[in-house]
Amino acid sequence: MASDASNRTLSDRRDQAVGAAVEQGLLTEAEPVTALLDIDGIRASAAALTAAFREVGDAPVLHAFAVKAAPLVPVLRLLDSEGIGAEVASPGELALARAAGVPPERTVLDSPAKTLAELREALALGIAVNADNPQELERIDALVKAGAAGGSQLGLRVNAQIGAGAIGALSTATETSKFGVALRDEGARERVVRAFLDRPWLTRLHTHSGSQGLAPEFMAGGVRVVYELAEEINAAARRRQIDTIDIGGGLPVNFTSDEETPTFADYARLLRREVPGLFDGRYGLVTEFGRALLARHGTVLARVEYAKSAGGRPIAVTHAGVQVATRTVYDPGSWPVRINAYDAKGRPKEGPDVVQDVAGPACFSGDLLAAARPLPLLEQGDVIAVLDTGAYYFTSHYAYNSLVRPAVHGFRSSPGGVAFSAVREAQTMDAIVAESGGDRPDALL
Ligand SMILES: *Cc1c(COP(=O)(O)O)cnc(C)c1O
Repeated sequence: MASDASNRTLSDRRDQAVGAAVEQGLLTEAEPVTALLDIDGIRASAAALTAAFREVGDAPVLHAFAVKAAPLVPVLRLLDSEGIGAEVASPGELALARAAGVPPERTVLDSPAKTLAELREALALGIAVNADNPQELERIDALVKAGAAGGSQLGLRVNAQIGAGAIGALSTATETSKFGVALRDEGARERVVRAFLDRPWLTRLHTHSGSQGLAPEFMAGGVRVVYELAEEINAAARRRQIDTIDIGGGLPVNFTSDEETPTFADYARLLRREVPGLFDGRYGLVTEFGRALLARHGTVLARVEYAKSAGGRPIAVTHAGVQVATRTVYDPGSWPVRINAYDAKGRPKEGPDVVQDVAGPACFSGDLLAAARPLPLLEQGDVIAVLDTGAYYFTSHYAYNSLVRPAVHGFRSSPGGVAFSAVREAQTMDAIVAESGGDRPDALL
């Protein structure tokens, strides 16, 4: 998976795409920041995920992409063509999955705050729903009683309370996490078993222990807790009431190099070792990976508008900042990004490394993609590429300073050249004004 050959291919493809993007005019005065998605890379990751779980056992598996990682309809459509479904957590994400044509039987709704209307719609569509808490179960009870459940597979999310990973804000299995039923609280386990025995239609268990910053061993520990609970419930029910276990996503991405560690295959093998019963065919599985499927395949390109210096530190002022790399700017310790330097023609920049800051366009001093980063000295007109940004970066635009949501271009590269296809147009000024109350300037007079 992470062989030198495939790594070279990845970075060769990327360099070729950057050169072609500059040559074909995707970076302009009007659009000084843009984003690329590697179509073949996404397909390869989807195929690797599918193969990884096939290799370790007989369980039927639905891989549902966590839409929040890259909420773009053509991306969902591309993944659908590889047999990957959608995990949605809001009415907006469900609308995207539907617009992409993801079928209901490959769509899973999770969210801690589903309204009654959302639940009703989900059941009417026949998509799977994982309830978060006892009050949500009561709402579903009422819908089931009213005959509204249709073909939906219904489950309950539990929090194994196994602790936090390296990033607190993204750790969902802590003692006091807001997600799911906290399984180790006093009496909780008994109440969960009871909840299943009282509801013969409740057939799934769901867990997701967090995102990034979690060791695979830790994630597997959370899956084991849920597997053991499923066994306990099925024993109490004297039948295979729970037929499917949703193990969530969260596989971390190595943001420090092109090497893919861990791979989906590593994680699937680890799971088979740690929780063998999961793969003997008695349970169906659902996975919900987001970052590990898409991160590698996205690149932000931005022009260096000015090169200056302050206090002896060279600073490249670029058009990529907090609007496309929000987490990196606000929490650079947790979310460092790799940056490649290219010249004005999009050719990899040569030259000795110089310690410099790479800044964004927003009006606050913390808007830096990298501080004190050794790179070939960036000059006015150069291009930077922000790597591994296919998940949770440009796809999750942040509207600070009314900065334009950049265009996204898919690309396919071959020895003969690079072909781009537009995934999303850049936001227009008219759209920015309209979304900011521009159609009712007098509303407050
Ligand atoms: C965010 C999320 C995921 C995806 O996490 P990744 O780290 O992107 O794989 C999956 N399931 C749930 C419930 C989530 O909230």
